[in-house]
Amino acid sequence: MSDTTILSGCDSAPASEKASARPILRERGQREVFCGLTGIVWLHRKMQDAFFLVVGSRTCAHLLQSAAGVMIFAEPRFATAIMEERDLAGMVDAQDELDRVVDRLLARRPDIRTLFLVGSCPSEVIKLDLSKAAERLGKQYMPRVRILNYSGSGIETTFTQGEDACLAALVPEMPRAKSDAAKQLLIVGSLPDIVEDQFLRLFDQMGIDNVRVLPPRDSRDLPAVGPNTRYLLAQPFLSDTAMALEDRGAVRLDAMFPFGAEGTTDWLAAAAREFLVDDALFEKVTAPGRERARKAMSHLRGQLEGKRISFLPDSQLEVPLARFLTTELGMIPVEVGTPYLHRAHCARDLARIPQSARISEGQHVDRQLDRVREDRPDLTVCGLGLANPLEAEGLSTKWAIELVFSPIHGFDQAGDLAELFARPLRRRDRLEV
Ligand code: SF4
Repeated sequence: MSDTTILSGCDSAPASEKASARPILRERGQREVFCGLTGIVWLHRKMQDAFFLVVGSRTCAHLLQSAAGVMIFAEPRFATAIMEERDLAGMVDAQDELDRVVDRLLARRPDIRTLFLVGSCPSEVIKLDLSKAAERLGKQYMPRVRILNYSGSGIETTFTQGEDACLAALVPEMPRAKSDAAKQLLIVGSLPDIVEDQFLRLFDQMGIDNVRVLPPRDSRDLPAVGPNTRYLLAQPFLSDTAMALEDRGAVRLDAMFPFGAEGTTDWLAAAAREFLVDDALFEKVTAPGRERARKAMSHLRGQLEGKRISFLPDSQLEVPLARFLTTELGMIPVEVGTPYLHRAHCARDLARIPQSARISEGQHVDRQLDRVREDRPDLTVCGLGLANPLEAEGLSTKWAIELVFSPIHGFDQAGDLAELFARPLRRRDRLEV
């Protein structure tokens, strides 16, 4: 069977967006992407009373240690219950071992209010049922500690999907909002606190005061959800979470993702329309931030305009970022590869990417590298493992992981986001002189 298929995109996009339907190159082959455990690096910072216990191998522990480096100096909020050969060979009851590890951890750490048991490749290979473990341990520790599980395994998830799996595990725990409850806005997706606060201030200034976020900073303070919940996705990689929220009656507000002046305005406007914010008030609240964003980007536009860029599939941020670079900075997208493309969630961004750009979903790393070599873009956004070989061939690269670990959403981060793409081009120009 062929592992490359051409599909037509935007199936579930609104009619206005269907005009932009274009062929999508779908590839299924070898992947070069981090696994979903990586999400723990930013999720543990967000939910400060939660603990992530990876049930995995020494490889999983090393991945987390190196990805989260600095945590070694802090009171950790994640750890790996390392499965030894005896566990993998089925010589001990792994469930009993896990109970012992959890008992020890919770006895030592009374500050933990939510414990996530995170599955990995090894726990999946031996079919260790973590949902059963979470249920059993939950009965023992509720209400002091809520125990949940999700998979971060590289077999099931890539990089940012770990956050999706984690948030989807929280949704069933959210209280049920009454059908006559006041309309509530829910921001979905983990954002740095400083960015989250900026958005909350803007909604407050628009008079939208019933705003909650998922994940919350206090993991036990979960917002209620129901038919009067309107949610805005802050991240494009949350398809399972979105589905779980919609099963509870919540309705997604269709918007571009909040990158740059245009994306952020579109995202805020979706909420403003739904909550009947007066046009003049919306303008008054958003104009200063939009102006700051445009000013911060203006001195970088000259460095980016007309430059050709390719994205290899990595974080699922590729489509909205390609939209941002195209419409706000004049870059030319050559290929926009993404591990998974949610056609409805990304429809408004996708519709603004020129038809000349190749959109690809999934990965066949050898073919993608061949296309990059043929296209020779000015900048290639890719994973760490692919950057060095491409640099050695004279191609400039940007590490996709930096885009996930940096504050890049919203008006006040637009200049920094543009700078992340301008820097490697400047470095290349300096090296060429
Ligand atoms: S979950 Fe799998 S891919 Fe991720 S670090 Fe562990 S073994 Fe590697």
